Amino acid sequence: MAPMPIALAGIGKIARDEHIPALIDSPDWRLDAAISRSASVDGVRNFSDIDEFLADPGEVRTVALALPPGPRMAYARKAIEAGLNVMLEKPPAPTLTELRNLWSLAQSRGVTLYASWHSRMGAAVEETRRRIAEARLRRLRIDWREDVRQSHPGQDWVWEPGNLGVFDPGINAFSILAVILDETPHLTSCRMEIPEGRQMPIAADLDFATVAGAEISGRLDWRHDGDPSWRMEIETDRGTFALTRSGSAVEVDGAEISLDGSVAEYPLVYKRLAELVRASESEFDLRPMTLTADAFLIAERRVGAPFEW
Ligand code: NAP
Repeated sequence: MAPMPIALAGIGKIARDEHIPALIDSPDWRLDAAISRSASVDGVRNFSDIDEFLADPGEVRTVALALPPGPRMAYARKAIEAGLNVMLEKPPAPTLTELRNLWSLAQSRGVTLYASWHSRMGAAVEETRRRIAEARLRRLRIDWREDVRQSHPGQDWVWEPGNLGVFDPGINAFSILAVILDETPHLTSCRMEIPEGRQMPIAADLDFATVAGAEISGRLDWRHDGDPSWRMEIETDRGTFALTRSGSAVEVDGAEISLDGSVAEYPLVYKRLAELVRASESEFDLRPMTLTADAFLIAERRVGAPFEW
């Protein structure tokens, strides 16, 4: 099948690190247009905003939106109203209602809406689901730590209302949790630390409960030195293991086991988008956003040391 033309909006860190390389290598897509206020991409048509692009979309029927969630919603609505398919980076929207309304709009216009969760594409997520399904889960500990200066260098939007602070990576853990467990656990406590003068948390401790009685807890922290540590330590009645590297690997007794078919996350995100567009279907899982919203609803908030880049 011939590759389909696609436009990419928001040419920032994740667009350059992941989206553009995945699209260049994709058998399903041909990057036709970039939409950016300040940047351009060589070898494609460049537009400065969504209105300018929608006035001249050419053959493009699909737009991937790699902007932060705040400005992304207006772009998504305009693209859907123009009859285009839309892929959303995570987190999909600033509020749940806006996301549901976007979903209704996409349904009514008959276009594909794909709320993507890249970490869920990690090579070890399915292996972890299988191991848990074949046993009785006793404990699961989320340990999601990274250096915000590395993952979001100078991006002040991460601290602004409508964005999630340390839950911006934390929601990736929730996106995995929602598919590896039969039951979505509910939060019972959340303690957030918010840097003085900022709006969003830099760290959080979480406790969850399940009807089946597993103990689930988590620590999200943006003050980590060095390489990120994105892990889940999992104890079942058949033994313990860890899901590591944000869903990419499984460790048993401290050693990674080999997995079949390991492919990087973003090529799989774009493969999934192609499947959805070709089948005229949508994919939209609210659970990671709902868990995040719950965390903000029940959080105890503590003001911590100021944060400067
Ligand atoms: P970023 O580097 O700040 O890039 C976002 C881009 O969005 C900016 O370069 C800007 O592009 C555009 N933008 C920002 N505000 C805008 C506005 N008001 N109107 C129009 N365009 C606007 O951020 P990022 O790290 O790539 O993150 C973007 C999304 O990807 C977030 O939802 C984040 O959670 C997700 N994500 C990030 C990472 C990561 O490691 N950083 C990993 C996975 C997913 P132009 O100046 O080109 O218009």
